[in-house]
Amino acid sequence: MSRELDQEFLLDARALEHAVALMGQTFVAGDAVSLGATLPETGMGSLATLDQLAPVVLGQAARLGSPVAFAHKDPPTPWVTWATTLWNASLNQNLLHPATAPVARALEEKVIAWLSPYFGMTGGHMTPGSSAANLTALWAARECAGVTEVVASDSAHLSIKKSAHILGLRFTMIPTDARGVLSVEALPKDMTRTALVLTSGTTSVGALDPLSLIGLAAWTHVDAAWGGPLRMTRYADRLAGIERADSVAVSSHKWLFQPKESALVFFRDAVNSTEAISFGGAYLTEPNVGLLGSHGATAIPLLAMLMSWGRAGVALRIERCMDLAEQLAEYISNEARLELFALPTTGIVVWRARSQPVFERLIKGLPGGMTSTVTIGQDKWLRNTAANPNADMSLMIETIRKVLDEA
Ligand SMILES: *Cc1c(COP(=O)(O)O)cnc(C)c1O
Repeated sequence: MSRELDQEFLLDARALEHAVALMGQTFVAGDAVSLGATLPETGMGSLATLDQLAPVVLGQAARLGSPVAFAHKDPPTPWVTWATTLWNASLNQNLLHPATAPVARALEEKVIAWLSPYFGMTGGHMTPGSSAANLTALWAARECAGVTEVVASDSAHLSIKKSAHILGLRFTMIPTDARGVLSVEALPKDMTRTALVLTSGTTSVGALDPLSLIGLAAWTHVDAAWGGPLRMTRYADRLAGIERADSVAVSSHKWLFQPKESALVFFRDAVNSTEAISFGGAYLTEPNVGLLGSHGATAIPLLAMLMSWGRAGVALRIERCMDLAEQLAEYISNEARLELFALPTTGIVVWRARSQPVFERLIKGLPGGMTSTVTIGQDKWLRNTAANPNADMSLMIETIRKVLDEA
């Protein structure tokens, strides 16, 4: 007795072509899907669903690749990652079990093997973000080095404090200097039971904590969520010394242009670190490593981009971002009405107007997605983050100039 297959689970190339065509369409503001208050009893069908959702999901989304998108650490993504993400969704491999991901596990190992050397690490695995990567690394620190305390600067990412809380470790916050760098003289004298966290590219101002401090504590973790990929560029020296860290976190969904959720945790002693955070289970043929149970093949879009661009192609895009940040910083330093916080070292430009009324006008007048704001001490500043290689700096400077001249 043969039964007809459920077409919803089969490849429908024409329907997918339609989905792709919708991605190139422009939608008018106000196009909206009317979603009822309760789950519909009868579905509308997949093609109709795409047509209904497109004006909202595609039409109303933030456009991270727009010519003025320069506000956050969220990059546009290259199309090869869209295609491979579609493959991933269709295959739905589960990396927890070798049987349900025979090649995907090997491909993640390949990505880790390709990227670890840039950080002097011997291995690691992917996580859904650097918040999870930081937690994983500090978990390994607790298991391998017996740490009881996490020390980080007041500019460390909130996931560090959160991780200490989850892991039952004391959290000690160290002040930063005027440029947002961890103040070395404020470090505890005894760090024999401490995991020291150094940030390479702080969230607010992109500062680089001194990596010369690696080795002073029982474990040193480098949160290179943002700045890490500079290791693949001509700016690699800005993170010199990172190879001596015990662990490193890098968000590939930031400066490696990956769709979320994509990040990496690396260990210098990957064998022991990984073993310390692995659990076996009756239903598992291989131990479960790290925080996640079932998880997908986020390595595949990353691998595809690395194959497509090579190291040089990755560097080219990041270096372009760095150039854009430098152009913006130069304009700001030469504009008498504006003040630059510091020269950007990791593509993050922090600035403000010298007068309060002009500052307010900038905050109101600049287009959404072009700048964000950040509070440093008691003061509010504007912040640009160079994650978009297609940003148009002349257009952005022109836009700022217009708002300045509006008075
Ligand atoms: C973004 C960021 C994080 C958190 O990473 P997610 O990938 O957003 O979870 C941690 N630390 C720093 C320095 C970051 O920039």
